[in-house]
Amino acid sequence: MKPKYKMKKNCLTCKSIGKTETGYSKYGWEEDATKLPPAVGSLSEIASDVSGGHGDTLYQCPECGAYFHYNLNYEYFACGTEDSETLSRISDEEAATLKQQIKKNR
Ligand SMILES: [Zn+2]
Repeated sequence: MKPKYKMKKNCLTCKSIGKTETGYSKYGWEEDATKLPPAVGSLSEIASDVSGGHGDTLYQCPECGAYFHYNLNYEYFACGTEDSETLSRISDEEAATLKQQIKKNR
């Protein structure tokens, strides 16, 4: 069975990005932070509704056309901030749905 998401073999741009990647940081402490793979910076932004530290962004790999859903969640606490981010590979259908959803939320 074919996987739902596209993944071109040896795509230099996004091969280092797995099915789901998560990043996390607490109170801005770099040593405790989990970062998303640097390849995320090479993806093209298609649509985004991030505001006030929350929201979703639809990214596409410029090389192989794979879609990614990026979700950011930023929380403010008395002692600092906590943020978590998730990047997942999604299918073309899911990307189309997400794009509509982002447009609605803007
Ligand atoms: Zn790619």
